[in-house]
Amino acid sequence: MSLSVYDVWSLADEWGPEKVVFVYDPDTGMRGVLVIDNTAIGPGKGGIRFTPTVTPVEVFRLARVMTWKCALAGLPFGGAKGGIMGDPNKVDRVAWMKSFAKAIKPYVPLQYVAATDMGTTELDMAVFAHEVGDVRACTGKPSEMGGIPHELGTTGYGVAVATDLTLKMLNKFGSISLDPREATVAIQGFGNVGSFTAKFLDELGYKIVAISDISGCIYNPEGLDIPLIMRELQTAGSIEKLSRYEIYPKEKIFDVKSDVFIPAASSDTINSETAPKLIKAGTKLVIEAANIPTTAEAEKILIQSGVWVIPDFIVNAGGVIGSYVEYKGGTEKEAFDLINYKISVNVKLVLTLVQQNSLTPRKIAQEIAKTRVKRAMLLRRGAIDVAREYFARQKSLYEFMVPDLRNTTHP
Ligand code: GLU
Repeated sequence: MSLSVYDVWSLADEWGPEKVVFVYDPDTGMRGVLVIDNTAIGPGKGGIRFTPTVTPVEVFRLARVMTWKCALAGLPFGGAKGGIMGDPNKVDRVAWMKSFAKAIKPYVPLQYVAATDMGTTELDMAVFAHEVGDVRACTGKPSEMGGIPHELGTTGYGVAVATDLTLKMLNKFGSISLDPREATVAIQGFGNVGSFTAKFLDELGYKIVAISDISGCIYNPEGLDIPLIMRELQTAGSIEKLSRYEIYPKEKIFDVKSDVFIPAASSDTINSETAPKLIKAGTKLVIEAANIPTTAEAEKILIQSGVWVIPDFIVNAGGVIGSYVEYKGGTEKEAFDLINYKISVNVKLVLTLVQQNSLTPRKIAQEIAKTRVKRAMLLRRGAIDVAREYFARQKSLYEFMVPDLRNTTHP
């Protein structure tokens, strides 16, 4: 039986979701959903996705990723996500954002702190914060409001740091044989996350051979000139309108020969149809810049063929780490420093534990995150002894380094 896109209840488990709020505004036609997955560690954190195709089940799955992401990054936040069903470029986006903010205001910011996600920008955050009437309602606000907008490339920066360190570590462990100076990279999706991932990887000296967006794909086995393409895209708007390149259909990105494949677009794009293509194209490493880009079935197929998959909640935490710095009133420089520090610590920790335990990076990272969330859940019940016992047991199982939050928030 296939799952209805509204059937979030059937996915409820020991972690959440704590709240699912469906909202509808008959005046504007706005339909939205807020899923607060788990608030044991702190207020649920997560962006607002504004797309025609977003569903309550997808918002729940994205909220769950935020629960693990914030716990793994050692941030004092739980996990949540907002979804508005519509095309932000076709509806009255300001009216819809105001309407969504008004509808979920009772939960903001004590149980939910919003941010940008697919389809939303710093301007939407300005509208959202204003409508709620509290600067703490969301992060990713414009710098004029004291924000650190995600448009600075915080997520993409973290993805580049994670890619570089993963390649170096897997080479060191002998798990992969790929000189980072020779490695070729294909990036699927060229929005905020994909474009900044390309920019920062290019600055680190990586050869990016293919990029795609919703309109098409461009490819050059010798490497693309990323700074030039970024400038050209500012006027062209989309890949299909770039004049000096041969434009392929967007699906071509899965067939292009590359060592590292970076999905930076929507959910479930690496599935049982596309995973075999990546294997055929020689992909050795998948770095999940998007949230939930790989289906469970596809991940199995990839791992069985020796492809490494580094999960979203390690790799793309740069955005929410930047959000945390904004929330605390920090600066842009502090945000980038903390992203570099935290993502490096987590990549090192997870890959080292993978060597020792022969489990997948996702499984290891999930166990660390779950241990932290579980401990907070036990503590909020007042069960301090049980929490200590649980924690000690987990620690001896994996010898996880679970640092004190106060010591991990500063490099
Ligand atoms: N939308 C981003 C993510 O999925 C950022 C969330 C946030 O900063 O709260 O991680």
